[in-house]
Amino acid sequence: MYDLIVIGGGPGGYTAAARAASKGVGRVLLIEKNALGGTCLNEGCIPAKTLLHSAKLWQSVKGASKYGVVAEAVEYKQDKVIARKNKIVRKLVAGVKAKVTASGAEILLGEASVVAVENNLYTVQVGEEQFQTTKLILAQGGEVSIPPIKGLDRVSYWTSREALSAKELPQDLTVIGGGVIGMEFAAYFCSVGVKVNVVEMLPEILGGLDREISSQLREEYSKLGVNFYLNAKVVEVSPEGVTIEHEGETKLLPASQLLLSTGRRPQTKGLEVLGLEMQGRGVKVNAKMETSAPGVYAIGDLTGFSQLAHTAIREAGVAVDNILGNEKEISYRAIPAVVYCTPEVAGVGYTEEQLQKENIPYTKASLNMTYAGRFVVENEQGSGLCKVLIGEKDEILGVHMLGNTSSEIIVVAAVAIDNGISASRLAEVIFPHPTVAEIIKETIDSEQK
Ligand SMILES: Cc1cc2nc3c(=O)[nH]c(=O)nc-3n(C[C@H](O)[C@H](O)[C@H](O)COP(=O)(O)OP(=O)(O)OC[C@H]3O[C@@H](n4cnc5c(N)ncnc54)[C@H](O)[C@@H]3O)c2cc1C
Repeated sequence: MYDLIVIGGGPGGYTAAARAASKGVGRVLLIEKNALGGTCLNEGCIPAKTLLHSAKLWQSVKGASKYGVVAEAVEYKQDKVIARKNKIVRKLVAGVKAKVTASGAEILLGEASVVAVENNLYTVQVGEEQFQTTKLILAQGGEVSIPPIKGLDRVSYWTSREALSAKELPQDLTVIGGGVIGMEFAAYFCSVGVKVNVVEMLPEILGGLDREISSQLREEYSKLGVNFYLNAKVVEVSPEGVTIEHEGETKLLPASQLLLSTGRRPQTKGLEVLGLEMQGRGVKVNAKMETSAPGVYAIGDLTGFSQLAHTAIREAGVAVDNILGNEKEISYRAIPAVVYCTPEVAGVGYTEEQLQKENIPYTKASLNMTYAGRFVVENEQGSGLCKVLIGEKDEILGVHMLGNTSSEIIVVAAVAIDNGISASRLAEVIFPHPTVAEIIKETIDSEQK
């Protein structure tokens, strides 16, 4: 008999199991059907960022003469990059295993299904074995969603999984889907010399991110040779390539390699007996991460909501606190979104498009990243943008940035938004100099002069 069973060992599940065991929930079992670390460590965030880092290094070395450093005879070895990626994944997965074990939670490898519910007691089956518990955290994550495109059954294609393991670079690549994941792959393959097309059905890449910044990123990659087809519809794929309808014409894009990056959907298999209330394809939860079944919580990509590892991790904390009786509600006010291209994109809070849609009044402070001395030092001929959106009561509604290293800096804005720190108060904080982060303060000051 367990006090808690967690199904799924991704960032949501392993965080929940380790936290629950170490905070005294009692006997905790974590069940994972593939590899601990889930999508994030094995075929998502970490492998993608490992590849992107190698590509960034390669671009830096090739462009080093701009900084007075002459590098000769540099080579990019895709097979070695993949070998390093595999080594990093092994190391981090081992780290997760050590963390969960040290917490006192038990780990079981196998596919779990909930097979019976009686008087709020849940029976979970793995192979021939059955386990009982009064509390469940469902953290089964998501899987690649394949759209019904004509001809897909006649061609071979990559999803993110195969793209992250390709030991050889294709001659050219057509990416269907210009969201965050599609753009990171487009950036990677373009940076290492592959001719890349991106086909996106919406008017702009990067979906719900700030439109002005997304369009600037697209322009940067257009200059590097990526062909973007926006407002484009995929009609068919065939061995000859991808046929699209774009700007009133039918076009055939040659694609020696096709990459589908059209989204992910929650993995709900094995939960049928629970009869859970759903929201779209995801499991419906309230602010405490409770599902419609008593004692059953759902977190992470399974809810189909944010589909980000850091959201899954925070939701795990909220679910465990509620199991412990420390009433907690999730706040989604400040979920940072990052695109790890070069230049990086990062944003948190409302975008201008959302504010306009919701009729929320705001002032926009915006500065080129070159106002930060450190940015100029480290980005020869580089430019970028920092936007701070400020409400009528001086509250920070959103911050959106283009430029390295906005992925690290955005947390300053997230802390401010999450804690209701006003724009003028944030600008009074002493930022270390010279740092790129100073751009946030500079941008606010530029508006409040
Ligand atoms: C290419 C790519 C890049 C990404 N980059 C980022 C990024 O930079 N930043 C970011 O925040 N997010 C990123 N993501 C998204 C991120 O990976 C997910 O949001 C995150 O992994 C969700 O965590 P989770 O714990 O909900 O689910 P998952 O990580 O998907 O883990 C779920 C686990 O449950 C297991 N499981 C499922 N069903 C069962 C069952 N019945 N029994 C036992 N085990 C089961 C699965 O095997 C899996 O290991 C990326 C995703 C992809 C694909």
